[in-house]
Amino acid sequence: MSVSESSLLCKTLRRHYLSLPQGQKCQVTYVWIDGSGEGLRNKTRTLEQEPKRLEDIPEWNFDGSSTSQAEGSNSDMFLIPICMFRDPFTLDPNKLILCEVLKYNRKPAETNHRYRCNQVMEEVKEQHPWFGMEQEYTLLGMDGYPYGWPKNGFPGPQGPYYCGVGADRAYGRDIVECHYKACLYAGIRICGTNAEVMPSQWEFQVGPCEGIEMGDHLWMARFLLHRVCEDFGVVASLDPKPMKGNWNGAGCHTNFSTEAMRAEGGLSHIEKAIDKLSAKHQEHIRVYDPHGGLDNKRRLTGQHETSSIEGFSAGVANRGASIRIPRQVGQDKCGYFEDRRPSANCDPYAVIGAITRTCILLEAENEEES
Ligand code: ADP
Ligand code: MN
Ligand code: MN
Ligand code: MN
Repeated sequence: MSVSESSLLCKTLRRHYLSLPQGQKCQVTYVWIDGSGEGLRNKTRTLEQEPKRLEDIPEWNFDGSSTSQAEGSNSDMFLIPICMFRDPFTLDPNKLILCEVLKYNRKPAETNHRYRCNQVMEEVKEQHPWFGMEQEYTLLGMDGYPYGWPKNGFPGPQGPYYCGVGADRAYGRDIVECHYKACLYAGIRICGTNAEVMPSQWEFQVGPCEGIEMGDHLWMARFLLHRVCEDFGVVASLDPKPMKGNWNGAGCHTNFSTEAMRAEGGLSHIEKAIDKLSAKHQEHIRVYDPHGGLDNKRRLTGQHETSSIEGFSAGVANRGASIRIPRQVGQDKCGYFEDRRPSANCDPYAVIGAITRTCILLEAENEEES
């Protein structure tokens, strides 16, 4: 059986209990990034009434020794609420709260990349940096093999699956549609979805978001994805290359613009930013996956719509380049560009922090010097 036992429990019974009234009380689920930098954890508490603003949500804590974030002897970690969403599973008035993790000394935990990212975003906020991230992922059965693939073999070669329709082309669309609705209900800036090149591989896009909101919304969108998949008994993998061989990997293309790039003649600002990125290729590769480039090494081969991890390249409408300028942007001479290098399992805070530092802050530093 390739779906989980839990997904087979009686869902009609579940609906009965979930529809019971709960009085004035409110269920609040705190969500945070664990010590792996990829995994999400969550736990729930009751508040006496519905919180209206973030300030109504108290700080909380958890046992960091159970999430690879602390030693048992000094294990309490702080959960600092940073972003509130409606809960699409238990419905209004219940909430999902994305949290930052602080250590016992109130310094950011090792995998809390939001803290630093937020400082960078504060520094550049007059430039109004916008981001859009394209989250690719692969559905797996409980056996760890792509969902819906024949048990002792492979589906037909890639070609018909990208944006495909039909039972022989689209594997697991239920999950994609439910996740999309859940994101809209929660209040996440999800802007689209499509089936990907490898069967059982899909993508959703979040954006445009200004500054730190990009990371907040993408992390919560990922939480909803894992949670929806749990209901259906399958697993969403963000591994950048889940299947070796002639199968596409999974990335997290990151689209970026500043106010100047979006204004008339902004293409020159885009070109300047790309120049800066070209000088920092290795530094960016190190933060574009949680293992310093090792995950992306399997994916960025120069094949399957990727650029080689070894070199930097850029081009209009070029899906084999590190950076692509969309054709429309080339024609309009303004807009945004796409960094195709981030891995599906990247930390969006680390990625947008690096792009912003290189493209905006580096420029400012050099100008001050000259
Ligand atoms: P692709 O053609 O690469 O598959 P998608 O349509 O999947 O592109 O994703 C485009 C992404 O670009 C979306 O996340 C969208 O929010 C984002 N985006 C659109 N305009 C801008 C902009 N001006 N600045 C930054 N991101 C943008
Ligand atoms: Mn896309
Ligand atoms: Mn894609
Ligand atoms: Mn893309």
